[in-house]
Amino acid sequence: MARKFFVGGNWKCNGTTEEVKKIVTTLNEAEVPSEDVVEVVVSPPFVFLSFVKSLLRSDFHVAAQNCWVRKGGAFTGEISAEMLVNLSIPWVIIGHSERRALLKESNEFVGDKVAYALSQGLKVIACIGETLEERESGSTMAVVAAQTKAIADKVTNWDNVVLAYEPVWAIGTGKVATPAQAQEVHRELRKWLSENVSGDIAESTRIIYGGSVNGANCKELAAQPDVDGFLVGGASLKPEFVDIIKYKN
Ligand code: PGA
Repeated sequence: MARKFFVGGNWKCNGTTEEVKKIVTTLNEAEVPSEDVVEVVVSPPFVFLSFVKSLLRSDFHVAAQNCWVRKGGAFTGEISAEMLVNLSIPWVIIGHSERRALLKESNEFVGDKVAYALSQGLKVIACIGETLEERESGSTMAVVAAQTKAIADKVTNWDNVVLAYEPVWAIGTGKVATPAQAQEVHRELRKWLSENVSGDIAESTRIIYGGSVNGANCKELAAQPDVDGFLVGGASLKPEFVDIIKYKN
């Protein structure tokens, strides 16, 4: 079965109530391909999740940007997977490089989080990606394989996992990976899944690209055989996000 194209919008730590309303209005008014063709998921900060969900058109979905690694309880400042499920939030982003770098989330911690979120019924956008230093030293594949292995070690059912390859050097920098660079890593990741998980899972798991995706560069990236969609940061806060959803036109 063909992998359905996936477009995620990661709003990060941005927005006021007014700005959020404006973005949602733009999305709600947009003419886009049907849900059978492109799956659209936007990820507002926690405080706006329910608000966005209540306003957003029903063919678009929402994701949290993080959740706690195990059952909730005495973990001040954290949000549990159970709470997201209770609020009917279907998706969560886990392992974003900003959290890995700034909050010191290790590969193992990310793997545990992905497994716990899945066990509670959430769908997960699991992020991986190398730094510039790692790319320049030729260790890109070793780094992303280790990040993927830490997830694969804990996950048995991949149906609800989207893997987001986001080279750190391309995030928020305007320095997008070339279509060939993205395709090379996506192809290698699919090969890794095939050799270490299963051929079927390698075939069915969507591997999306993130890092300075915009309305102008999305078409060429989307044309790569192993690029199954995008996780968009900066451009997801702008009307341009609609152009990315409509990448085929
Ligand atoms: P960017 O962010 O599109 O602003 O580079 C992507 C991401 O961090 O998911």
